Amino acid sequence: MKSYKIAVIAGDGIGGEIVAEGRKALDAAASRENFRVEYKEFLMGGAAIDAVGVPLPEETLQGAKEADAVLFGAIGGEKWDALPRNLRPETGLLALRKGLDAFANLRPVKVYDSLLEASALKPEAVRGADLLVVRELVGGIYFGEPRGRDEKRGFNTMVYSDFEVERIARAAFAAAMRRRKKLCSVDKANVLEVSALWREVVARVGREFPEVELTNMYVDNAAMQLVRDPKQFDVIVTGNLFGDILSDEASMIAGSIGLLPSSSQGAKGGIFEPIHGSAPDIAGQGIANPCATILSAAMLCEYALGEINAARRIESAVEAVLDSGLRTSDLARFGAKKRVGTSEMGEAIKERILAQC
Ligand code: NAD
Repeated sequence: MKSYKIAVIAGDGIGGEIVAEGRKALDAAASRENFRVEYKEFLMGGAAIDAVGVPLPEETLQGAKEADAVLFGAIGGEKWDALPRNLRPETGLLALRKGLDAFANLRPVKVYDSLLEASALKPEAVRGADLLVVRELVGGIYFGEPRGRDEKRGFNTMVYSDFEVERIARAAFAAAMRRRKKLCSVDKANVLEVSALWREVVARVGREFPEVELTNMYVDNAAMQLVRDPKQFDVIVTGNLFGDILSDEASMIAGSIGLLPSSSQGAKGGIFEPIHGSAPDIAGQGIANPCATILSAAMLCEYALGEINAARRIESAVEAVLDSGLRTSDLARFGAKKRVGTSEMGEAIKERILAQC
């Protein structure tokens, strides 16, 4: 029987509560698809600062590198906000992404029929929307040199080299091949030289994927199209800054931050985590929505383990349980037949996976 090693980083706040439910779903899917999952737990963020004085202990980075994938909850909280930047919890996550060279950030956004009313957009605009934003995560203007400021000027550099564009484009085309085979590359090639290079390289990589229909869109138009007609998109690929903005915009299509998973991948493995933070305001109450983490476990199966059937099992179980009217408190206003806590939601999804044919 195949066996995979998963590094588990619960983190802070609701991290432990939601990761526990992600593990349940993963175990259930593994048992149905005849593979084994071995977990090893590691510290990061505030929990690591309290225990060993740094946000990313060496042991955690090493464990993440040796694992097939990382299942991560969330980090951060007021307790650590006053620390210098290099000792803050968020620094741990950035260093982990850098350490794993996790250059491809994937954020799927799916609208569930049973939650149409929860979307920030009109139900008719979002019904059936199902898209994936692929954002370059370790380059572009957030990392470009030179950067700096004095009293009167501040400046940053948006720079991409062809190899950086090539690898993110390849990740996006590969994702499109697993989906509806449509890729929209978003840039600002009418104004920026860096975008002209981006567009050229994406087109070049596209020749390796003749089945994928490639289109280009300027970022200002893409921001508008996402709220006008999100259904037109399958996969969107874009740089770090544009992706930061567009992926947050796209997340509002779905309705709750508690529903949205993500992955950050490099050459091997990757970090799979909900898009939300540690939600200190509800931590310890057992009311957080675990769906984003459970769906991150599905992404882990698909993208890190290649266990596509297991991924589909988890996704369809989440959808079925939402359809049945179970709601955590963040979604209780939208078609709740029964209001449940974090672990009851996780159990229901696990049971659904085990009962699937
Ligand atoms: P947040 O995402 O933690 O919370 C925003 C709001 O959404 C809160 O009202 C919270 O209760 C709610 N929420 C979030 N996840 C939920 C879930 N699963 N179910 C139900 N409700 C949920 O953002 P914030 O409050 O701005 O940040 C809190 C802490 O998290 C900060 O320290 C921040 O730095 C950190 N943070 C971490 C990550 C990460 O670990 N990747 C990401 C964002 C923020």
